[in-house]
Amino acid sequence: MTDAASRRVVLATHNAHKVAEFGAIVAATRPDLEVIGYDGPEPVEDGVTFAQNALIKARAAAAHTGLPAMADDSGIRVDVLGGSPGVFSAYWAGHKKDGVANYELLLDQLSDIADPHRTAQFVSTIALVIPQADGGAPVEHVVEGVWPGRLATVPAGENGFGYDPVFVPDDGEGRTAAQLSAAEKNALSHRARAFVALAPLLTSL
Ligand code: IMP
Repeated sequence: MTDAASRRVVLATHNAHKVAEFGAIVAATRPDLEVIGYDGPEPVEDGVTFAQNALIKARAAAAHTGLPAMADDSGIRVDVLGGSPGVFSAYWAGHKKDGVANYELLLDQLSDIADPHRTAQFVSTIALVIPQADGGAPVEHVVEGVWPGRLATVPAGENGFGYDPVFVPDDGEGRTAAQLSAAEKNALSHRARAFVALAPLLTSL
């Protein structure tokens, strides 16, 4: 493996928003690391935890490319719903592409719930799977970032994606995640927190 190849890592996601957020976070921490996209076969994400789904995606990308691969699985956990939507966040209203329908359903489900019981967290779990040159079993790591906050009662803000307009992070000075700039969100988010945990593991690549 050449030096250049050894500094490449595959990011196994097709979500353009995540690629942008993740790319910015990686660049700030490891500018020498080239993050490349993955366009190989997509595995079935049938895990019931964020960690299982992240590992499924990272293992598939590492096996297909022979390169170290990262994948994240993320979503929103609402305490009064026992942690749901959780791994079902993308499909909560049945339409993965329809982030507005997802958060409208969630707001509807919490319509009778007042503060202080609207607590929620964005969660990002990142798996890193490193193939071994000697053909041995890949080395696997899983880290998690949690961004605590609460659900707004009405959506606000134009930035971000998914549940951002209805999530008010504890450290966002009362704004929803969709009212934060991309730079602010990248500094505070669940993915940023997961990456802080991941960064020391990247030094071995
Ligand atoms: P995944 O692509 O399988 O990880 O699903 C993640 C889903 O969780 C997304 O489709 C969003 O609905 C939600 N989600 C994850 N991260 C964020 C975020 O940073 N902002 C808003 N919604 C998010």
